[in-house]
Order: sequence, then structure tokens, then C-alpha cells
Amino acid sequence: MRKLPIFLFFAALISFGTLTLYSKNAQPKGVKPTLPINPVALYQSDNELYFDNKLPKADVVGEEPPGDRSAGKVWLASTEHTPGSHYYKMYISPRYNPYWQDEEGSILHESCHIYVWEQVEARGGEYDDGHNEEWQDCMKSLALKNAFKSIW
Ligand SMILES: [Zn+2]
Repeated sequence: MRKLPIFLFFAALISFGTLTLYSKNAQPKGVKPTLPINPVALYQSDNELYFDNKLPKADVVGEEPPGDRSAGKVWLASTEHTPGSHYYKMYISPRYNPYWQDEEGSILHESCHIYVWEQVEARGGEYDDGHNEEWQDCMKSLALKNAFKSIW
């Protein structure tokens, strides 16, 4: 029993070391953050795996998304679209997607926006880029296809 405090000390030391290691790997100071995986390849792979390759080609870039940052808003990702076209530009923030699970989650999220835009505009409607029922259904269908199995 006298060895318990020593054991706890080393267990705490090892845990702390692990956390420090991860935080250093996530965002080294002074280095411009980059995405862990090529986002174009990830979008294409997700398109094949979960959308039957029906999503249009998109410019997928590892850049900070443009947009209002007031009131403490952060943008993990965003997608620009020219209504009536099949043009999409997806921004995935390297700053807020330091791990591949973050990046994959953001690309799947944005892919559902593209999916809904394509569906709504094919019906002659307009989509406001929100998280409406159709977008929610897209995310649920991804979950049923186990798209989030390594994220959840
Ligand atoms: Zn969204």
C-alpha cells in the first residue's frame, strides 16, 4: 500500500505527457496549420463511399472560410455555391480541423449541404444553406451508412 502514491504519481506523469504530446502534434506554434489529409481526396472518397459518386466536382481547399466572425463565431468549414450552377467551393479550416476526424466530420457536413443544393435546385427550388430537415436527413443517412464510425 505504501507504493500506491508512487504509482499514482507516475500514472499522472504519463497521462500528462500524453496530453502534451498530442497538443504539440495538433498545432505547433509559429507554423501555419495545415489539414491532416488532402481534402480533395477525402471529398472524392466520401463521394464514392456515401453518395454513389453523385456529388458534383468541387474545389475543396484547406483555407480559413470567409465570413462574419463577430460575436465569437468560428467557422470550421463553409461552402460557396453559385445558384443554378454545379459550382461549389468548400473551405475547410486548417485551424479548427487539426485532426483527421475533425476534417472528415467537416467534409461530410459540407457534402450534405452540396447534396441538398443539388436536390433542391433540380426541383426548381432554392436552398438557404441551412440545416433544414432535408440536410438533417442527409446527415442521418450518412450515419446509417456508418460514415461516422471512426468519428463518434
Ligand atoms: Zn452547415
